[in-house]
Amino acid sequence: MAGRGRRGWHGRVFAAALGVTAAAAATSLWTAQADPAAGQRQPAVSAPAAGAHGVPGAAARTVSVDIAHASDRGSRGVNITIDDGPDPVWTPRVLDVLREQGVKATFCMVGTQARAYPNLVRAVVAAGHRLCDHTVSHDTGMDRKSDAYQRQEIVDAEGMITKASGGVRPMYYRAPGGAFTPYSRSLAASHGMRPLGWNVDSKDFERPGTAAIVATVRREVSNGPTLLFHDAGGDRSQTVAALREVLPWLRQQGFSFGFPVR
Ligand SMILES: [Zn+2]
Repeated sequence: MAGRGRRGWHGRVFAAALGVTAAAAATSLWTAQADPAAGQRQPAVSAPAAGAHGVPGAAARTVSVDIAHASDRGSRGVNITIDDGPDPVWTPRVLDVLREQGVKATFCMVGTQARAYPNLVRAVVAAGHRLCDHTVSHDTGMDRKSDAYQRQEIVDAEGMITKASGGVRPMYYRAPGGAFTPYSRSLAASHGMRPLGWNVDSKDFERPGTAAIVATVRREVSNGPTLLFHDAGGDRSQTVAALREVLPWLRQQGFSFGFPVR
């Protein structure tokens, strides 16, 4: 979730500031990518050949430390990202919807969840989705903790996810609550995990109702291509229903579904 554990004013201010930053960054990227020529002039992100990651036994290769928002499908691509699982009830239902809609997504997994439900991690990989490290204990205050703590949270989760998957490594790192630090970004990148942000928080975690989740996505997709949903942390039936509506809508709008750039 974007904000669990940051309930106080500090968390709210922090989240708001992050949102502004993310929106600003997204706008520039989004705008640049609307023009293919401009897109090509973007600073090159490290883009290893397909298959270099995400396969058993592949060595980690350093990727960019910049927080990714763009889609590998270009200016009309969107990235569906699903956080906090895997969860024995909701992950299978999310996988069902993605399969029905022919959509590949990126799953940001909590290490302990991956360790508890390795079959779900393998099901995610087998369906062609990508893995993302979302730390061991989902500490949204990680940006105020020591480097040693951050390292443990990130590297241990990477190990748990990779072990659960049968050797398929996470390709991204998303800090819980967006609490990245320069240290955590560079550590993740050195492990082959591109720091991953988001542009549109569907707010599904707050369970505002399916219609509200759909409306948020429709209203805010112009902010940028990376959309945030959750498959754990409580009853996610609204998320499942919202995905079933919003994925066909996105396709009708001319979007295609991709993965965050690396
Ligand atoms: Zn989360």
